[in-house]
Amino acid sequence: MIQQLSPAPVTVLGMGPMGRAIASAFLAAGHPTTVWNRTADKTNELLARGAVWAGSPLAALDAGELVIVCVIDANAVDAIFDRALAEPGRSRLPVTTLVNLTSDGPGRTRELAARADELGVLYLDGSIMTPAAAIGTEATRILYSGPVVLFDRHRHTLAALGGAAVHLGDDPGRAASFDIALLNLFWTSITGLMHSFALAARQNVPATALAPHAQQMAGLVADLLPGLAADIDAGRFSGTESASLTSVTASLGHIVHALEEAGVSPAVTQEAKNAVDAAVSAGHEGDSAARLAEFLGRGHTDRDPQAAG
Ligand code: NDP
Repeated sequence: MIQQLSPAPVTVLGMGPMGRAIASAFLAAGHPTTVWNRTADKTNELLARGAVWAGSPLAALDAGELVIVCVIDANAVDAIFDRALAEPGRSRLPVTTLVNLTSDGPGRTRELAARADELGVLYLDGSIMTPAAAIGTEATRILYSGPVVLFDRHRHTLAALGGAAVHLGDDPGRAASFDIALLNLFWTSITGLMHSFALAARQNVPATALAPHAQQMAGLVADLLPGLAADIDAGRFSGTESASLTSVTASLGHIVHALEEAGVSPAVTQEAKNAVDAAVSAGHEGDSAARLAEFLGRGHTDRDPQAAG
């Protein structure tokens, strides 16, 4: 006879848009869900749907085997730990698995993992790669890192968040390393896109007219991405098959000039050009764009062409 396991109890700390979406997905999947937030009234709708109010951070951490925290940053998680430890007689926290779905940098995340460890908490880190509205749907994508045993123990419960859950390794900071690199891609792309819309607008091209062409250009970046990644990892930088950095810097120069002519700040593009110029000055003029990843990764900035080598 197949035994049906009833959905495991979970606790969610943090009721911003993401924390609420997480708690909502657990409730929808039938998990008994305890919630806590610094500002209590943000939990009202979830309480009406059957969630239970924890009363305090310590009670929330003590409420069950799996606790999710999703707040603004690692400092806020520390503040929650501090509040729990402020209760009389506490020097350690309840032994529970804490899945931290709060975004922060890899270094800060490792510090938090070490503190959780000292306090007796079993720590798994996660980075959410999708917006709050996607939580509970197939579109969800969450990257996890930390002890694989914790991921395996709770993956069935975490599946209530939907979509794909990918474990990247035992280093608790590894998911944050992916997250920060991907967010850099996302926000520099969005900033570049807004810059292009601004330039187009100054030339009486509405954003909606440019949009289908911009979409095609973004698709080109997506198409080029796997080949560039393979070249970077293999150390192949020849620009003979693609645009050389000499050609890239000339093209960026034309764009900077056009931006100035149109009265739009060229700062975003100028920074990109500075990086390419530094690589060219260091002797990489015949290389492809893949060289930039290797060059910048050596610790060169776009401001020190003299130091580059
Ligand atoms: P916010 O990033 O705005 O975080 C708000 C939450 O943090 C609230 O619960 C707030 O409590 C709490 N908080 C802030 N400071 C403290 C503190 N000192 N002590 C205790 N709690 C504190 O909201 P989101 O829910 O949108 O994001 C949560 C995390 O999820 C962030 O790290 C974000 O980067 C990440 N994320 C969010 C996405 C989204 O679509 N929203 C997408 C992907 C990741 P209070 O209500 O009392 O102010």
